[in-house]
Amino acid sequence: QNRLLEVENLKTYFHTENGTVPSVDGVSFHVDRGETVAIVGESGSGKSVTSFSIMGLVSPPGKIEAGHIRFDGTELTSLSERKMRKVRGNEIAMIFQEPLTSLNPVFTVGHQISEAILLHQDTKKAEARKQGIAMLKRVGIPRAEQVYQSYPHALSGGMRQRVMIAMALSCNPKMLIADEPTTALDVTIQAQILRLLKKISKEVDTSIILITHDLGVVAELVDRVIVMYAGQIVEQADVYTIFKDPKHPYTQGLLESTPKIHELHDELKSIRGVVPVPTNMPTGCRFHPRCPHAMDICKEKEPMMVDRDGKAQVRCWLYASEKEDVG
Ligand code: SF4
Ligand code: MG
Repeated sequence: QNRLLEVENLKTYFHTENGTVPSVDGVSFHVDRGETVAIVGESGSGKSVTSFSIMGLVSPPGKIEAGHIRFDGTELTSLSERKMRKVRGNEIAMIFQEPLTSLNPVFTVGHQISEAILLHQDTKKAEARKQGIAMLKRVGIPRAEQVYQSYPHALSGGMRQRVMIAMALSCNPKMLIADEPTTALDVTIQAQILRLLKKISKEVDTSIILITHDLGVVAELVDRVIVMYAGQIVEQADVYTIFKDPKHPYTQGLLESTPKIHELHDELKSIRGVVPVPTNMPTGCRFHPRCPHAMDICKEKEPMMVDRDGKAQVRCWLYASEKEDVG
């Protein structure tokens, strides 16, 4: 079976004093084995909450209200916390934006990576050390023996992120979720880390979900792109189609606000307006207050996701007719 992850009509809501926030509101997508998929959107689009839902890390006032998350044949939404913890450690790993907050400052890198290995493998300490150092070398850390004995704060941001990736991979996960893994790093280091992720996904056949606000970083890394806006997927397509022929006005706006390497002197446009207040979503299409193509119907009726020549899916009235939407 080629399908590793299947998310179906996922709804994760946060019940706050100010009302219900539909952070993830009817999201469906899949990830195949060995595939690399990006989830792209501005902050507040629901991309991180989607990943937290998959990891079983949503806690009150947040709640998965509806939908399915099937991972490698198992329905995750109904697993006990004990079983979910096993999935998190062994089968799905996650790396975050700022490794300093996920690495423990009082223990050496070696201590933390060998603990991670010992947690998942029945092996001796000396063997875990050997594996840990090998793992650090594998993620391109020079003088791995020395780094193994260092404390996290003694390392640069890029090195810390490499350590996090090594730790995440030490349990041999089927899927790696990387949430803004390079946002805190400078541009050169960003590119190095992304190249490393790509290399690893090829070598170990791990599927990757890359979560980012920056469409620019995904171009050379992923197979497919999912664009989220205000809790919904508004477009998904293979990476080539997204860059060559973006359909949704929001995707087009994201692309226009993404710097292109060869057009350094171009002025970047930004998408006008701001993301909606989630407790007070716009009627109809949630993007309509910001959309340069908004029509009357956009304010009244929510567009459905429609398929475009089997290549892309887009949620926009420019590509759907009201007839298609009936039923
Ligand atoms: Fe713009 Fe209308 Fe399409 Fe929404 S449905 S993105 S408002 S054209
Ligand atoms: Mg986020």
